[in-house]
Amino acid sequence: MTTSCPSSGPPARNGADCVVLGRLIDFAGDPAAFGAAAVRDLPGGALALKEGRIVWRGAAAGLPAEFGDAPQRDYGRCLVLPGFVDPHIHFPQYRILAAGGRGLLDWLDRFAFPEEQRYADGDHAAAAAEMFLDLLLAHGTTAALVFSTVHEEAADRLFAAAERRGMAVAAGKTLMDRNAPAALRDSAETGLRASERLYARWHGRGRLRYALSPRFAVTSGAAQLAAAGEFLKSYPDALMQTHLSETEEEIAEVVRLFPDCADYTDVYDRFGLLGPASLFAHGVHLSARERGRLGEAGSAVVHCPTSNAFLGSGLFDIGPYSPDGGTGAPRLAVATDIGGGTGYSLPATLGSAYRTAQLRGRRLAPERAFYLATFGNAEALGMEGEIGRLEPGFFADLAVLDPRATPLLAAREALSETLADTLLALMILGDDRIVRASWVAGRQLHPGPG
Ligand SMILES: [Zn+2]
Repeated sequence: MTTSCPSSGPPARNGADCVVLGRLIDFAGDPAAFGAAAVRDLPGGALALKEGRIVWRGAAAGLPAEFGDAPQRDYGRCLVLPGFVDPHIHFPQYRILAAGGRGLLDWLDRFAFPEEQRYADGDHAAAAAEMFLDLLLAHGTTAALVFSTVHEEAADRLFAAAERRGMAVAAGKTLMDRNAPAALRDSAETGLRASERLYARWHGRGRLRYALSPRFAVTSGAAQLAAAGEFLKSYPDALMQTHLSETEEEIAEVVRLFPDCADYTDVYDRFGLLGPASLFAHGVHLSARERGRLGEAGSAVVHCPTSNAFLGSGLFDIGPYSPDGGTGAPRLAVATDIGGGTGYSLPATLGSAYRTAQLRGRRLAPERAFYLATFGNAEALGMEGEIGRLEPGFFADLAVLDPRATPLLAAREALSETLADTLLALMILGDDRIVRASWVAGRQLHPGPG
């Protein structure tokens, strides 16, 4: 699984453990808000890495002498980006992509719920966790916010596998006390206690964090949502993840189940689930009131374009999330939502977001798209001081992309005149073949040896 960092020679005693060379691309902020100044593109760049973090960045020609003896890994004209961050993905659905349901609720019943029942077996969960995390790394994704199943042990197995890789993973046991098969249901009390135990075991251990994970308001009753709100009061440094306003059928069901609430967002709001560490997946059909309330609370809406297209959920509109789209919008993040989503590649997911924007009469600039998949998603997870940029002090989590990975990409790249051209080609034509390497905390984990 692990390739040691240096390509040759022992690590330098002082200075750096190794130096990575390539075209450095990262984003100091949202290019839609800050313009070209937020985009950093440094061909012939160098990163000096030490003890898992970046200690220096700059032009290779200006590499300080103290790093001169460190082993080097030269990626030439490949792009060296911060590792991608996937802020909404389901570990137990890692292999149920391309399962055609009639819509979200039908898909859950026919595919997701039967598959998730297998995770009562800890050995099954352990093997799945290995495959899941290796798939993330094979696609350049080095950090994620993850739904596990209802089973406590499955979450343990996922955390343990992430810890072995040194990955920044936030995850949680799914809470679900109704409208699901009996084998996948907990209760307000048992779900709360299991979440507390998992938090105690894993939160803050290495790079791991706990995320309270009520699946959505259809599968959690009032008592369970109230318990979730109490958990967040007790553990304010935990994350919260759930689903919101994905399909019209789902919204109608939530309105029926919570007739006293003003709208879907209000359900979560009444139980204290909104806040700056809360991420709401989808938000396809939110009203202006709901967006305003989510923005006021500092929460994030996670756009999952391939999932929305595959399940026929609707066309998310990025317009209100643009700097000129009005004030008070929630933070925007972009995710794969495997297994409703159709691929692990964040660049390809950005390509889907681009197409969705086109269909809504909007434009998603490629630089903004890659900002979202790196620093923007890190900000949504509250990890903006640690990941998402190529900056001294940040973890050395890297995605190395080859814009000439295939004959077609190479031919297309020959026409590219700007960084935006190169990035858009990767979004539209790219898949796991564009990922030359993935590094986690200064170690190349993909490709592994052999
Ligand atoms: Zn989801």
